[in-house]
Amino acid sequence: MQAAGGRMGVSVSVDLQSHKEFMRCFYHHDRESVGGCKSCGKGLCPECAVDMGKGLACRGRCEEDVRELVTLIDRNIKLTAQTGNILDSSRRIRSSGASFNLVFGSIFLAWGLTDPEAFRFMILLGVCFIAYGVFGMIQARKPRGDRKDS
Ligand SMILES: [Zn+2]
Ligand SMILES: [Zn+2]
Repeated sequence: MQAAGGRMGVSVSVDLQSHKEFMRCFYHHDRESVGGCKSCGKGLCPECAVDMGKGLACRGRCEEDVRELVTLIDRNIKLTAQTGNILDSSRRIRSSGASFNLVFGSIFLAWGLTDPEAFRFMILLGVCFIAYGVFGMIQARKPRGDRKDS
């Protein structure tokens, strides 16, 4: 027990140290970094950093690389937006499938309830369909809510 506790203490102090290291400028060890270079990931102080719009670059070293990276990322974002539209339409189909399950389930349930003794399996089936439909509705709506948050 004691050994495990000691090991935990060591790992925490190591984490803090590496975090501190990242916060320093790579070229000026006495200065705090404002962020990392998008290309090489080195910590940069305001003097060494060049703002490339969507990321920082090492002044005079990585400017060109980061410019290319930013263009690539921009292209990727456009592609992702297009893929998102396709996913959206397939999600719409899925949610209409879910409401179909709900309607179907209600019919089964209503039918089963006309004679609960004879149609016990109908009630069970109806409940299953409704549960599946509700689950599908939640599944179809969840990602859209996530996107609203971000
Ligand atoms: Zn760099
Ligand atoms: Zn610096």
